[in-house]
Parts: sequence; structure tokens; C-alpha cells
Amino acid sequence: MDKSWDKSVMKDAGKLTVYNGISVGKWSTVFGRTLESFNKNSKLTIKLVPSKDKDAANIEILLSSGSSSYTYDGTTYPVVFDATLAHGKTKTFDRGDGIEKAAVFLPSEPKENHVNVLRFIAVHELIHACGLDEHNNDGVFITAPNIKNGQIWAAQGSKKMPPLFFAPKTVMRLQELWK
Ligand SMILES: [Zn+2]
Repeated sequence: MDKSWDKSVMKDAGKLTVYNGISVGKWSTVFGRTLESFNKNSKLTIKLVPSKDKDAANIEILLSSGSSSYTYDGTTYPVVFDATLAHGKTKTFDRGDGIEKAAVFLPSEPKENHVNVLRFIAVHELIHACGLDEHNNDGVFITAPNIKNGQIWAAQGSKKMPPLFFAPKTVMRLQELWK
């Protein structure tokens, strides 16, 4: 189920702030381009903007080897996923009035580690952080990407990325949540 952010975040701020916890190794050049790509493709009036304040940021992007935890509002949640794949793990936190925080964990050592693939993974997870749950069948928000030589595509005959693109359905769902 797609889930909205807390109304005070959506109406008052006009932006979601994002903390960059991935400026390490191969990931170190990914953050800025990822926000740009999201903002361009989502066609939302609300924008993702960088924040240096980890705690105050709406979204934290972090690296994980596949076994981590995240503490929010006094509770610690395990974060476990296969960090060799081209997928991360995003947790959203909600006390009944919509999402108030999202923690995005990106795989520290994915098998496919071309910078195009890293950007793909990061933009994909930011879509989850914005409230979308189930994937679409094309564009950056697909379930199982085909990857070869730094190129990524959904199914036979579909457009190769980069440039990263959002399927029309993904844009519609985001706009529905953020109108
Ligand atoms: Zn996903």
C-alpha cells in the first residue's frame, strides 16, 4: 500500500530533506546526482534537498552490509537484506498520521557496482522513501533489473538506463500521494 507522509511535512515544508550518509568509496559520488535525478523524474512540486543534520532530516540514506539496525522513537528495528543485489532496504516510520521519517539502507558491496547501478539503486529506494511500496513494471522502480556493462533495463525491448526514468504509473502514484 502506498502511504503518505505526515501532512505537516507535506504542506508546510514543500521539501523533504535528505541526509547523505553514503559518502564512502564507490558510493561517494552518488548522492547529488541521485537527488537531481529524482527531482527531475518525479515531476513533484515538493523537492528532495540535502541536509547536514542527520536527526532532523526527513530521510537518512545510509550504507549497510546487509545486517544493520535503526532506532526511531526509542525502538530499535533490525534491517536485514541481501546486500549483494541491486536493491536496498527502506524503512518508513509512522505513528498514525503518515510517515514522519524514512531510513534508506543501500548495499555497501553490491555485486554489480558500476556507478550507473549505484545511482539506480539509490533513486529506486528514494521512491520507496517517498511512500511507494509495490514496484512498477518499467523504469527505475522495477523489481528485478537486468544489468550488463553498467546498463540497466526492465524487460526485453524496454528502454535501457541511464538515463534513469520513471514509468508513467510511478509518476502517477507519486503525484497521487503528494498532491
Ligand atoms: Zn524496491
